[in-house]
Amino acid sequence: MKLSEYFLPTLREDPAEAEAVSHRLMLRAGMIRKLASGIYSWLPMGLRSLRKVENIVREEMDRAGALEVLLPLVQPAELWQETGRWDNFGKELLRFKDRKEHDFCLGPTHEEVITDLVRREVRSYRDLPLILYQIAPKFRDEIRPRFGVMRAREFLMKDAYSFDADEAGLNRSYEVMYAAYERIFSRCGLRFRAVLADTGAIGGSESHEFMVLAETGEDRLALCEACGYAANVELAESKKEFSYPQEKEKPLEKVATPGVKSVEEVSAFLGVSPSRLVKTLLFKAGGEVVAVLIRGDLELNEVKLRNLLGVPEVEMADAETVERITRAPVGFAGPVGLSGVRILADLSVRGLRNFVTGANEPDAHLINVNYGRDFPEPEFYDLRVVSEGDPCPRCGRPLAITRGIEVGHIFKLGTKYSEAMRATFLDREGKERPMVMGCYGIGIGRTVAAAIEQNHDEAGIIFPREIAPFVALILTLGPEAELMEISERIYHTLNSSGVETLWDDRDERPGVKFKDADLIGIPFQIIVGRRFKETGRVELKERSTGQREDLSPEEVVKRLQGSA
Ligand SMILES: [Zn+2]
Repeated sequence: MKLSEYFLPTLREDPAEAEAVSHRLMLRAGMIRKLASGIYSWLPMGLRSLRKVENIVREEMDRAGALEVLLPLVQPAELWQETGRWDNFGKELLRFKDRKEHDFCLGPTHEEVITDLVRREVRSYRDLPLILYQIAPKFRDEIRPRFGVMRAREFLMKDAYSFDADEAGLNRSYEVMYAAYERIFSRCGLRFRAVLADTGAIGGSESHEFMVLAETGEDRLALCEACGYAANVELAESKKEFSYPQEKEKPLEKVATPGVKSVEEVSAFLGVSPSRLVKTLLFKAGGEVVAVLIRGDLELNEVKLRNLLGVPEVEMADAETVERITRAPVGFAGPVGLSGVRILADLSVRGLRNFVTGANEPDAHLINVNYGRDFPEPEFYDLRVVSEGDPCPRCGRPLAITRGIEVGHIFKLGTKYSEAMRATFLDREGKERPMVMGCYGIGIGRTVAAAIEQNHDEAGIIFPREIAPFVALILTLGPEAELMEISERIYHTLNSSGVETLWDDRDERPGVKFKDADLIGIPFQIIVGRRFKETGRVELKERSTGQREDLSPEEVVKRLQGSA
């Protein structure tokens, strides 16, 4: 394509609404434009990259033996009622009525639809295993869509579903998909890790997330270089044991702490370390309120709490609830005298003596608090977010915490959906059994954004070659016929030999061309300037390294064809 005939609206300035690097660069590089909150159009440059990822995903799914289908975005409520998710899914499920007053939703995921399809068609163990997949738009009505296509409401996904006769079959399908995912993200040119993950709203027994490693990632990962343990911190465990010196219990005392609420404020005010403080956090969980105690210097893990309580969601209690239960404003809650709520505690509190808590009254804290004496001994569980350097749960070596962006997620669903929807088959003995399912997602647009989060610099995007919109960009620095002719020759030779090449033939200043070239991040720049007239050579610049080389046009062509 010639840039003079292309649709590439680049922006000089950073768009104000963009918080994330990829969002900013995708807008500036003319890849996407916002239509409404969380809803984006893909422009030609962005779509080419999106299609590259899509094609790699499709090739690897096909190679793994999965079969492509295309399922509807609009789904009838009845299917979601069968699994109970019509009521349980939350507001991310966009529900609406059609003209006949029938309930429908926009599919944020397709377990119900695929299970319905398969239960109608598959009768016998002979038809299993079966893995079906699609690459199609989905809709999740996110409360706070942000970061551009990274957390959009409408997005393109690959979702696959496996159906097996038994648990062993599921394990095989899961391994096949896991291996396909490793090939996909390697082929995309990304640095990534597969980590143990929470199963969340989808459910099931085991799950891995595929994380593109990037400092800007929203997820924190706990990794052990020694044994390979890798988990999302949401569920990462640690062998860490808390032990405290034997201390005599001191008399309980109330101290005035006017306006002093946060852990930092209280510890500064009382002159004690945050590890001497015990936070009392109130949560709403499945219609009841629970209090959770954890040391002041540690972070509570809400996913562990949710899984422990076996509820779909936990949420921090609002100010009104806190005041009703503690009879004090937020910031002064404590376990002493707290009644009518279940009290849980993190293992970090076990054995701790003479600690500081809120007094359940305004502007006051208690010091020298001891459980067993001042309030009943709580139930202890591991409810903590692991920290950098904590011992690995498998081998005891120190864990490293790093950041990542989730681009793929695979789940062993088991029979959760097949039982709810009666997706059964007849086994060898003629006995009816529920199919054993797995599901496997990849965010296609998200992968493009994550690639940019991982690969960029001050000047713009640095696309990995496999998913770059074009492989090469010719910059012709001047209107002279000689320069245009040689540029055109390189352009045709490269394109006709399969090296996708864009030609900046615009009547623009060199500065503008260089800026745009670095911004859009095409891996190779071929600079055709005045020097060509003197030396017959052009310059080949690699975007990722900045390396430049003077070569003849023939050498450039050979180099790019050879590096394919
Ligand atoms: Zn380890």
